[in-house]
Amino acid sequence: MSLKVIMLGTGVGIPQPGRSQSAILVENDDSALLLDCGAGTLLRLDEVGHDLEALDSVLLTHLHLDHVSDLLALANARFLADLPALHVFGPMGTEAYFRIAKSVYPNLDKMSAAIQELKPMDSFALKGFDIFAEEARHSVTALAYRLESEDKAIVYSGDTEPCPRVANLAKEVDLLIHECSFPEPFDVTNHTTPKKLGSMIRNLGIKRVVLTHLYPQAQGCEDEMAEQVIALSGSPTIVAWDMMSVVI
Ligand SMILES: [Zn+2]
Ligand SMILES: [Zn+2]
Repeated sequence: MSLKVIMLGTGVGIPQPGRSQSAILVENDDSALLLDCGAGTLLRLDEVGHDLEALDSVLLTHLHLDHVSDLLALANARFLADLPALHVFGPMGTEAYFRIAKSVYPNLDKMSAAIQELKPMDSFALKGFDIFAEEARHSVTALAYRLESEDKAIVYSGDTEPCPRVANLAKEVDLLIHECSFPEPFDVTNHTTPKKLGSMIRNLGIKRVVLTHLYPQAQGCEDEMAEQVIALSGSPTIVAWDMMSVVI
């Protein structure tokens, strides 16, 4: 059994060439899950040839616009195509966000989504994945996720400062997809830089690391950022680009 991860969107709220906003598609043998749904996700899904019918579940890490801008559009696209309602899993506040956003458009009154709000430490099974939610450290309520499918495991940090809870979640994982918003020597809160990440994940037995959620300030620093994480962690690390796929 293998898992395929397609980095649909690796950017942030500030536009930049080649990086759409946050979205990751994870496929097992039978189905697929979307992690986050920032602006550009619908276009990227079409570009990778993933049809709407096969995508009925989204996990949101948090409710910042660069992670949810295309959520209403995706739910509406399924409604327009006569498909069952989109399943949305997200932190507390997701139900209110969806309801209020939808209320701005009176023509969407028949469009619905099945919303399930999650708390840290929640776990559930979905589409062949066992999913664990954990609290990340960001400017708003935010979750990181661990997805396990048979003998493979992936962790996605969402937006976070380096945080022991996320590190613990990522122990011995096959693939850690971690945000790395800024290069060195930026000193930031709510986000992660390469040296702090590399130190955090040292000795955790993580087999591969993919860095995502890059601000424009990271342009031209991608190789150096990956090397800094490798030097401190010992884990093979690459910087993601949109449409890059990783098979584990
Ligand atoms: Zn954020
Ligand atoms: Zn973000």
